[in-house]
Amino acid sequence: MNIDLEIFSPVQPISNPMFDARGVKVLIKRDDLIHPMISGNKWRKLKYVLKRAQHQHKIHLVTFGGAYSNHLLATAAAAARFGFKSTGIVRGEQVDNDTLFLCRLHGMQLQFTNRDSYRDKPALFQQFFGNNGQAFFIDEGGASAEGALGCSELVDELPETYDHIFCACGTGTTAAGIINGLGNHQLKTKFNAVPVFKNGGFIKNEIDRFLTVAADFNVHTGYHFGGYGKANDELINFIKKFVADTGILIEPVYTGKMMYALFDQVEKGAFKPGSKILAVHSGGIWGLLGMKEKFDRWSF
Ligand SMILES: *Cc1c(COP(=O)(O)O)cnc(C)c1O
Repeated sequence: MNIDLEIFSPVQPISNPMFDARGVKVLIKRDDLIHPMISGNKWRKLKYVLKRAQHQHKIHLVTFGGAYSNHLLATAAAAARFGFKSTGIVRGEQVDNDTLFLCRLHGMQLQFTNRDSYRDKPALFQQFFGNNGQAFFIDEGGASAEGALGCSELVDELPETYDHIFCACGTGTTAAGIINGLGNHQLKTKFNAVPVFKNGGFIKNEIDRFLTVAADFNVHTGYHFGGYGKANDELINFIKKFVADTGILIEPVYTGKMMYALFDQVEKGAFKPGSKILAVHSGGIWGLLGMKEKFDRWSF
């Protein structure tokens, strides 16, 4: 089977009176529309990894993640789509939630492991699959040169040039791929990384690891809202308004923080009038499932 998805990820304008007042144009690259489960950057990061698995005649994908991991779900769905078996090794004691339900629905076997053992993923793989010649190790989060290569293809699809690109960052692999893509096309577009972790300055080095070109980019460390998976009313209210205004679903873990950063930077006048700014919707809307209780659902 050919491991590929037909990419549907249009660039769409986002209108907002504040953007008009600042004289900037904002658009969004809809990687969330690539696939309902294998969404956004998770497909781009898996693509070449899965091709290598197939090339090596492996039929059982083994990967790792937290109980709300978009990567686990994407891997489960990609395994089902392309005819692999899959196992997800999940950090922490046995739990059940909506994300893990969807993983299981796609045929993924789940193996829970304590937080200490979880740190050494190659050792876990060895322990459970050391004797299984059909098993294929995929690291958590897909941080790899292959992952970055897949993400660089986003830039090949852009219909025009932009002054700025914004993207949410976890491992920084997606960011590195996009920056490489910009370099490949000799574009002057400035990349704006929005780390979703506290003390996100370290992301600079993580991104640098996978760069194939020297590049200067912005890192906006002030939009973590307390850290990974954390949110406050300010962020939640921003997301509610954005979704209701645009019909584009974003969530508090990644894309909500990225979009908040973009709005805040525009509002503060960081971009000169006439600037064109592209937000990358990196997918992951199922992240909402783990954050439902942050939304006071009966208040709106
Ligand atoms: C995983 C994820 C990211 C982070 O990607 P990295 O390549 O690890 O930086 C960003 N956005 C969404 C929606 C994700 O699911």
